[in-house]
Amino acid sequence: SEIAAPRSDALVSPRRPVRRVVIAGGGTAGWMMAACIAKILGRLLDIRLVESDEIGTVGVGEATIPTMLTFHRLLGIDEREFMAATQATFKLGIQFESWRDLGQDYIHSFGESGRDHWTAGFQHFWHKGRERVLAGDYGDYCLELRAAQEGRFAHQPDPRGDELNYAFHLDATLYGGYLRRFSEGFGVRRIEGKIAEVLRHPDGDLHALRLQDGAVIEGDLFIDCTGMRSLLLGQTLGVPYEDWSHWLPCDSAVAVQTASVREPVPYTRSIAHPWGWQWQIPLQHRVGNGVVFSSRYVDEAQARDTLLRHLDGERLTEPRVIRFQPGQREVVWSRNCIGVGLASGFLEPLESTSIHLIQRSAIRLMQLFPKDGIRQSDVDEYNRQMNEEMAHIRDFIVLHYHLTQRDDAPLWRDCRRMDIPDTLRHRLALFRESGRVVRMPFELFADNSWVQVMLGQGLMPEQHHPSADLMGDAELSQFLEDIRQRIEHTVRQMPTHAQYLARYGVAS
Ligand code: FAD
Repeated sequence: SEIAAPRSDALVSPRRPVRRVVIAGGGTAGWMMAACIAKILGRLLDIRLVESDEIGTVGVGEATIPTMLTFHRLLGIDEREFMAATQATFKLGIQFESWRDLGQDYIHSFGESGRDHWTAGFQHFWHKGRERVLAGDYGDYCLELRAAQEGRFAHQPDPRGDELNYAFHLDATLYGGYLRRFSEGFGVRRIEGKIAEVLRHPDGDLHALRLQDGAVIEGDLFIDCTGMRSLLLGQTLGVPYEDWSHWLPCDSAVAVQTASVREPVPYTRSIAHPWGWQWQIPLQHRVGNGVVFSSRYVDEAQARDTLLRHLDGERLTEPRVIRFQPGQREVVWSRNCIGVGLASGFLEPLESTSIHLIQRSAIRLMQLFPKDGIRQSDVDEYNRQMNEEMAHIRDFIVLHYHLTQRDDAPLWRDCRRMDIPDTLRHRLALFRESGRVVRMPFELFADNSWVQVMLGQGLMPEQHHPSADLMGDAELSQFLEDIRQRIEHTVRQMPTHAQYLARYGVAS
């Protein structure tokens, strides 16, 4: 969407310097925002967070991506302490099962494949190797991917080599509690209660939250973390919602928790069904499960039954239905209110990007934090960056649906035929015709992610870069084999994921 033309010289609230920050909502978004603002600028601000025990949180959102390590590092969060407190496990990627076609699986890992040349990515050399029948699977050349396949993990598997690139699976409720203790340690005041009304200044800016018990919480800057209700940004300020359901077919989910019946694998499982997909997120003490589906192609009862038939362990919770609309608010910062988390939009959980977007909101706000009143240029810049980032993530997720060879169900046939964003169409053409990928500013997913998913979904480039032709067969074979053998050697030395969790001192 187009953002309103910048009004750089304007001042939204000229006489209102930001001293009091009010966070509405205490889900993952609310507490991540509280933790970050309090840790970085807490000594300058009065920070209050309002949450309602009666309403509760969405209770899902347990798979993350490696940027979470950056967030924790900025906040000074100790990894062992955090993992023990949230029953977390390590995650090296996502296994996509039957996404390309029935019975065909691949892993999108957090690692880099092979070695790039500055003129051309590794995929060009692999492509040439494959043409000459010298190369193995693309996954054989990525340490994180092979470690995931073998169910192994270590921070630094080879003392002379690099550290693994990884993320976590975590218990969302425990994470909220952990961040609450962290935030309160930095002065955040939590108020339990239900917001009954949002009060505004005569000029339209937000003034205060009135709770059901009559309490009035005044603020200068409001962070709307009220989940899909979007009480402040959507309902009060009326910022429209941009619907992306023509690109992202799923609009519903059923979630359920089960007991663990085997050692946790270090990856998320995403299993495609005829009308959507199923997730499995292994924590230390339990497994998070769910199906994400399109109500246009299946009814809730059938999706729920399929989920219950595909569960491994004993059921610990009742199935919970969650409805959503894929898309985003046209702007996420309006007046003196910033929407974060589900209040700002939601694509769908396929690539575990929502918690990442929350932390990007937190970091971006720290970088653009107002000093003597909110400046429109900062608001525009914040919205521009969030908008671009969200559109890139959208394209990456649409890629998985569109680039399928499945022909067994209407959802997949329609996805193959659907009109895709121009930005994605260009990327697909570039890769198909010449094996190239490009990375845009503010883009989350790097070349490796695009290549692993495009090849995984069955898109093979028509040609490779001429640099790959500079190597003869013997040299190319040696180059590929050296990488593959080094990875195999390293993976064989690594402990299993469960052994490592115990050795690291975080297993319960
Ligand atoms: P919520 O958890 O809904 O919190 C809203 C808060 O607002 C609550 O505290 C509530 O009490 C409060 N509130 C609301 N109204 C009022 C009121 N009137 N008065 C007072 N308080 C109020 N993200 C990932 O990164 N990885 C994943 O694997 C992933 N999986 C997902 C799977 C599904 C099916 C869905 C739907 C989402 C998933 N997400 C995932 C997204 C993730 O769940 C959210 O981004 C994350 O939980 C943040 O939610 P939230 O804090 O915005 O909202």
